Amino acid sequence: MMNIENSENRLKSLTHNFEKVKNDLGKAELVAVTKYSPLKDLFLAYEIGHRDFGENRVKDLETKAQAFYEKGFHDVRWHFIGNLQSNKLNQLLKIKNLYSVHSIDSLRLLEKLYEKATQALKGKDLLFFLQVKTSDEEEKSGFNSKDEVYKALRFIKERENQKGPLSFLGFMTMGKVRTDNFEQDAASSFQSLANLRDSVLNDFSFKEIKLSMGMSKDYKIALAHGSDFVRVGSALFSS
Ligand SMILES: *Cc1c(COP(=O)(O)O)cnc(C)c1O
Repeated sequence: MMNIENSENRLKSLTHNFEKVKNDLGKAELVAVTKYSPLKDLFLAYEIGHRDFGENRVKDLETKAQAFYEKGFHDVRWHFIGNLQSNKLNQLLKIKNLYSVHSIDSLRLLEKLYEKATQALKGKDLLFFLQVKTSDEEEKSGFNSKDEVYKALRFIKERENQKGPLSFLGFMTMGKVRTDNFEQDAASSFQSLANLRDSVLNDFSFKEIKLSMGMSKDYKIALAHGSDFVRVGSALFSS
């Protein structure tokens, strides 16, 4: 009895949180980041109609994706958003209903991805973003300069006609975390990613380039700068 009541309350509060964030979105998409959330919460989010979930560790994603798969929830879309070591690539690519990877952060990793994808994905398609470093924080990973990004894009372009399983979707970035000027620094990160997109659209023949930017604390700023995918965790799942 107690349990049913608890989960009803939880369902109510998740419904409320999701509605609140979704109201801000416009045409942008919401990736619900589940790295601190138990499976129970994920199933409730699924129950209220949510399908896009993000994880930042391969092992956790594998466990959660397997649990969804076993329940018969096969229309879920998993987004990998965390730091990726190339020795985990095979494990990641085998995950059921993996939809996109937001965190391809170097040319080396991009090359590995292309090397492994055809075999590991077994006919499934996968979208990916290049992660770009738009703030000066040491620990952040990502492409460091426009030159590096352009090199990666040429690599992608050269393989465009090979009809492989991979599709380049756009750029991902994170705003600065430890700063006294949080809003200003976030705005400047997101603006520089939008500028990069505009340059690339000008210099290459990509039809469209999406932006993955914005977390719980800064997703509204990201939306104001044209984000297409916000990755929100705590604002949805904390009580
Ligand atoms: C954890 C995480 C998020 C979500 O963070 P919240 O502050 O909980 O919304 C978004 N993107 C990445 C890459 C993350 O690791």
